[in-house]
Amino acid sequence: MIAYIEPYFLDNDADAASVTGQSFDGVSESLHIQGEILCGGAATDIAGKDFGGMNCVKPLAVVRPVGPEDIAGAVRAALRSDKLTVAARGNGHSINGQAMAEGGLVVDMRSTAENHFEVGFLPSGAFVDVSGGALWENVLKRCVSEYGLAPRSWTDYLGLTVGGTLSNAGVGGQAFRYGPQTSNVTELDVVTGNGDVVTCSEVENSELFFSVLGGLGQFGIITRARVLLQPAPDVVRWIRIVYTEFDEFTRDAEWLVSQKVESSFDYVEGFVFVNGDDPVNGWPTVPLHPDHDFDPTQLPQSSGSVLYCLELALHYRDSDSNSTVDKDRFELSRPP
Ligand SMILES: Cc1cc2nc3c(=O)[nH]c(=O)nc-3n(C[C@H](O)[C@H](O)[C@H](O)COP(=O)(O)OP(=O)(O)OC[C@H]3O[C@@H](n4cnc5c(N)ncnc54)[C@H](O)[C@@H]3O)c2cc1C
Repeated sequence: MIAYIEPYFLDNDADAASVTGQSFDGVSESLHIQGEILCGGAATDIAGKDFGGMNCVKPLAVVRPVGPEDIAGAVRAALRSDKLTVAARGNGHSINGQAMAEGGLVVDMRSTAENHFEVGFLPSGAFVDVSGGALWENVLKRCVSEYGLAPRSWTDYLGLTVGGTLSNAGVGGQAFRYGPQTSNVTELDVVTGNGDVVTCSEVENSELFFSVLGGLGQFGIITRARVLLQPAPDVVRWIRIVYTEFDEFTRDAEWLVSQKVESSFDYVEGFVFVNGDDPVNGWPTVPLHPDHDFDPTQLPQSSGSVLYCLELALHYRDSDSNSTVDKDRFELSRPP
C-alpha cells in the first residue's frame, strides 16, 4: 500500500505567528544573541520545507547562531515560553519534517560550520574536532588535502551536516567495517534542553552522549563532534556489479561483508534500480565506468523490472605496487 500524505501549508508569516501566539518582536527581543534572527522571506521559506517535500510548516523565525551561546539563547527562549518550539536544522535533507518548528525557532546550524576544525593525534589514533553545522564534504576535503587523513565512516552522499547525520546514524559503504558514523565519534559538545553547553563522551556525561547520537535532535544540539580519522587512500579501485537475481545479489553482499579485513573490500554497498531508462531511477543513474553508462543490451531476456547493483571499492596506498593493485583480491572466488 502506498500512503499519500497531504502537505500542510501555512501561507504567510502571520499564520506562523498565530500557531503559537508568539510575536516575532517579542521573541527576538528576549533572545539576546550575537547572530542573526530572520523572520519572513527566503530564510523562513527554506526552513519551512525539507527534502521530502511532504511537510511545509513555517517557523516564526530562523536563528543563524554564531556559536553555542546563541543556540543556548534560543533554547532558553523556548523554555521561558509555553508554546515556542526549537529545531536544529543541518542541511535540511530530512524527508519528513524532522528539522522544522511550526511557528517556532529553526536554528540554522550551517552558520556555525567554520567554528571548529582541529586535527589531533592520540596514541589510539587521529581525530578531528568539527562543527555540528559543517558539511561532511568540507570535512573530508580539508582532512584529505591538509593531513592525508579521512573519517573512517562516511555517508555516501556528503552534502549533509555532521550534526544532521549523527542525529540519525550516518551509514555508507564503510559501515559494515567501522559501524555507522555514530560509532566513530568519541566526544561531543551539546546544547541541552536546559540551555546548558555540555561536553560529553562515553565516560563523561555518557547518558547525554548516547542519547544525542541517533537522537533526532530531541536530546540536545551538537555544536562540536570529535570524529575518528584514518589515513586516506592514495588510489581507489571502484567496481560496480549488476545482478538480475535478488538471491545472487544478497548472497554475494552477505559474503563480502563477512570476509576478514585483510581479504575484503574497503567499501561494500548495494542498491536497487529500475530496469528502464528513467533518468532519476533507471540505467542512466548507474554509470558502471566513468566513461560508460549501463548497457541494457547485455541483460538476459528474463530480467525483471528492477535490477540490483553492488558497489565495491579497494583502497591502496602509493606504497602498494601496481602489480598488487592489478591482482589483489580479484582472486576472491564467489561463495558456493
Ligand atoms: C539525497 C540524500 C542522500 C542521503 N544519503 C545518505 C547516506 O548516504 N547515508 C545516510 O546515513 N543518510 C543519508 N541521507 C539521510 C540523511 O542522513 C538524513 O536525512 C540527515 O539527517 C540529513 O542531514 P542534514 O544535515 O540535512 O540534517 P537535517 O535534515 O537538517 O536534520 C536532521 C535531523 O537532525 C537534527 N539536527 C540537525 N543538526 C543537528 C545538530 N547539530 N544537533 C542535533 N540535532 C541536529 C534535526 O533537528 C533533524 O531532526 C540522505 C538524504 C538525502 C536527501
